Amino acid sequence: METVLQHAYLGGVLAALVGLQLGSFLNVVVWRLPLMMQRQWEADCAELQHQPSPSVEAFDLSRPASHCPSCKTPLRAKDLIPVLSYLWLKGQCGYCGTAVSVRYPLVELGVALLWGASALHWGITWEAVAWAGFATTLLGLALIDADTMLLPDSLTLPLLWAGVLCASLGVIQLPLLQSVWGAALGYGVLWMVHVLFQFFTGKQGMGAGDFKLLAALGAWLGWMALPIVVLIASLLGVVVALLMRWRGSLQAGEPLPFGPYLVIAGLVCAVVDVHHGLYVF
Ligand SMILES: [Zn+2]
Repeated sequence: METVLQHAYLGGVLAALVGLQLGSFLNVVVWRLPLMMQRQWEADCAELQHQPSPSVEAFDLSRPASHCPSCKTPLRAKDLIPVLSYLWLKGQCGYCGTAVSVRYPLVELGVALLWGASALHWGITWEAVAWAGFATTLLGLALIDADTMLLPDSLTLPLLWAGVLCASLGVIQLPLLQSVWGAALGYGVLWMVHVLFQFFTGKQGMGAGDFKLLAALGAWLGWMALPIVVLIASLLGVVVALLMRWRGSLQAGEPLPFGPYLVIAGLVCAVVDVHHGLYVF
């Protein structure tokens, strides 16, 4: 028994180390993916207008190599160790002294925690990998939406399909029908709300990214989780909007990203469902 426990903790620690590295990669994705999308739009617009493409140098997740955004000095391996480099350099660029956001090490620690906790709960299994990957992708989506009001298709759609596939292969404990209808209704319900809102107010309430994100949550949590996910997300959104209006940091009619609240609601439901089987009536 004791050795089994020790193995479980060892697995948790190893998974957390993997999570630390994945968290570091997630920071890169959150920073670069919206810029890649913007460059693509600019290139598409230029092509439509028969103009030369505006940006020529390669820019993707790996190019150019990691560098300080302020002094452009390329970072070396010792500058890229998750969390430790931040502490060692006291939250500054080691070359020019520009402050580095505390969000980077926090994201690394958060993802390490997600992977460690998943391994402790499920052991080193595909189920643990599936749920840890689910939560990591959601965290990335929440950060990108908070930063840029975008929910990239290149994250929401693979997340949706991964949920359906995991359900069909039995990797997660969700019947396939629950998953498929979760995806379809998740998209459909928000789309209907959007259409009605637009009809009555003439304004855009949500973006299509929100529909796709809820579809992905439905694929992982099942259609029965959708009402509670939408309820939690809406309440959170209203409370935060009221607090921001009260503090004067939000103007009337100014849009707020809805993705982060959907993400929090989805993660809460995933954890509650795992521990209490809330939707297994
Ligand atoms: Zn620098």
